[in-house]
Amino acid sequence: MSPSKNNVNNIPMAEDLIHLLPDSVANQIAAGEVIQRPASVVKELVENSVDAGATTIQVRLTDAGRTNIQVIDNGKGMSETDARMSFERHATSKIRESADLFSLYTFGFRGEALPSIAAVAQVELRTRRAEDELGTVLHIAGSRLESQEADICPVGTNFQVKNLFFNVPARRKFLKSNQTELNNVLAEMERIALVYPEIAFSLYHNEVELMNVPQATMRQRIQHLFGKKLGQELLTIDVDTSLVKVSGCVGTPESARKKGAHCFFFVNGRYMRHPYFHKAVMEAYAHLIPQSEQVPYFLYFNVDPSRIDVNIHPTKTEIKFEDEQAIWQILMAAVREVLGRSNMAPTIDFDVADCPDIPVYTTGDNYPTPPQVSVDTSYNPFTQSRGSDYKRPATHWEDLYGGVEGSTVGREIRFDAPEEPMPWDDITPSTSHDAAPEEPHLFSSDTESPYTFTDCYQYKGRYIVSSTPSGLMLIDQHRAHTRILFDRYLKQLAEQPAATQGMLFPEMVECSVAQSAMMETLLDDFLHLGFDISNMGGGSFAIQGIPEGIAGLSPTRLVTDILSSAMDKGSMPRAEIHRSMALTMARSAALVVGEVLSLAEMITLVDDLFATELPAYTPDGKKTYVIIEDAELDKLFH
Ligand code: ADP
Ligand code: MG
Repeated sequence: MSPSKNNVNNIPMAEDLIHLLPDSVANQIAAGEVIQRPASVVKELVENSVDAGATTIQVRLTDAGRTNIQVIDNGKGMSETDARMSFERHATSKIRESADLFSLYTFGFRGEALPSIAAVAQVELRTRRAEDELGTVLHIAGSRLESQEADICPVGTNFQVKNLFFNVPARRKFLKSNQTELNNVLAEMERIALVYPEIAFSLYHNEVELMNVPQATMRQRIQHLFGKKLGQELLTIDVDTSLVKVSGCVGTPESARKKGAHCFFFVNGRYMRHPYFHKAVMEAYAHLIPQSEQVPYFLYFNVDPSRIDVNIHPTKTEIKFEDEQAIWQILMAAVREVLGRSNMAPTIDFDVADCPDIPVYTTGDNYPTPPQVSVDTSYNPFTQSRGSDYKRPATHWEDLYGGVEGSTVGREIRFDAPEEPMPWDDITPSTSHDAAPEEPHLFSSDTESPYTFTDCYQYKGRYIVSSTPSGLMLIDQHRAHTRILFDRYLKQLAEQPAATQGMLFPEMVECSVAQSAMMETLLDDFLHLGFDISNMGGGSFAIQGIPEGIAGLSPTRLVTDILSSAMDKGSMPRAEIHRSMALTMARSAALVVGEVLSLAEMITLVDDLFATELPAYTPDGKKTYVIIEDAELDKLFH
């Protein structure tokens, strides 16, 4: 639009509708976007203090911040000119300095915070740089500079924001109860404190200390903020992919709770809410915790800022990623891996009281030779006490392990005399220094500890009873076996096919159209599980070979069950379908209640259980064992 001829002197004429808003009004409008409540003031001021290189930041509030918000830092401070300039719209010192630190912001929101705050409150700024003798004290209210003078101040910056929204009654009414506003402030403080453990933060409300965390490491910071107990229930995560780098901590399954779990995502140093990624984390625990519960997590993403949607608002915490699905997968896999790696079992301390000292592993030449152990594997101390007429029913239990790598059946274990040398060959690294132990063990190398189950006992064909120093351990044999088989089947599905035994008379499975289509895609997976199946056309499939270890089960029934469990997960990633198939098969093939086990079988079962990655739980999250502590036992006798 061309300027009106009649308006050369900038005098508004009746027909001119467009005119510039006075600065104070423009600032108020902008302030409405950036400053909505005391928590927004705290966030903006504290972030500025962080940017100013402060190592100590103190926040003091009166009436949840309605009457007074003070943020004091020991950062680099401002010169006299900068102090004045900082309240100008779009005045910022940061775009050149740290374009990537907050590159999540649209640049449009740079330099908005201080003018916005000054538009809706009475602000006092006291600031001094180390190199200046005197600092600057400024008073601004409703965007109007009221005074500026030089004065003695400590190095750093001290902002005092009084009577927030004093000139915008509508906004003031919009504020919630003090408790709610205070909670919002605390939440903002936590989000910032979790990103900068190297900075000490404190928060006082009406002179009462609500938060005071010293400089610390990330793990310590979490503990300082949320308590020691939570700190002990965390597992460290660290993955680096070309798309995203994720670090931080997730809770153990034990840390799950119905509500109030502390769940935090940060991206490039900024807090974000991300319900979709939250699901990815929870999915990793799918079979480990009850569905209604949540685990705490503190996860820090680092991504190329160009791969996230920068068109976001400073007060918004949702962020859009370009590669959401891929990151979902990476995140879930990473959490699952950590859960697996951090064998939950070391929480049990197995009986070592009667064991001789373990030879310390050294890399030198004088590596001690493990004691030779001679073993009578057929010896069973229980056979006599059980009576001579005892005959173990044929369970074909060992068959389950036949031909499976890593099987421990027939391993040399001495059952008698616990005072005798223990089977060190199973515990200590093998004699060849650089040969990795062949099997995973209950104790990872840094916590390696000998253990033995020489005193196993089977109770009612259902539980295996053993002793640990802290108490009596009861293992549910069906669940334990389900865990072992699940891991094994999952491995077969991912890696090598299992051996299959040809059937004399193939069994037929009849499928609907949808089932046939699914079946066709699963034939290879079935082969990995040990089922040799051919498509005969017309919805008929012939089972020509079955895996070992499913004696007594109906192959057609099993195949149909596995098929429907796979169909339930039809649209899920392949790995989920595999888990579902493996679980169905493991549940069917696992030892049932009432199956009597020999001592060797029990020991193998227990050993195999603790060689799995998550021995404490079945794949669907049920406990495989419990420990009744000695103290509890003692109580029973009172
Ligand atoms: P932005 O943070 O986007 O730059 P602000 O309005 O929040 O915009 O701050 C404006 C400028 O004021 C900053 O760029 C910085 O130079 C200066 N500033 C604000 N707070 C502090 C502080 N606590 N210490 C030193 N300088 C500060
Ligand atoms: Mg700022």
